[in-house]
Amino acid sequence: MKKRFIAGAVCPKCSAMDRLVIFMQGDTTVRECVECGFTDSQKELEPQAELETRVNHVDDPVDATQPQDSDISPVRILH
Ligand SMILES: [Zn+2]
Repeated sequence: MKKRFIAGAVCPKCSAMDRLVIFMQGDTTVRECVECGFTDSQKELEPQAELETRVNHVDDPVDATQPQDSDISPVRILH
């Protein structure tokens, strides 16, 4: 897997700048601080690009749509 530095990113743990690398682990984006070892992972937040990629490569797109449905309720609470 390839890691790349995030320009201008600040580590939330040790506050070092330009020490965060980002890489993909499955469909999860992982950030890692090379300074203190902090890691943070989150699901890919770009559904448009993500969906097109999955439809091309994965037989079962249902898996991609279901987690998004559960994301609707917390958004509604904000409004
Ligand atoms: Zn750090």
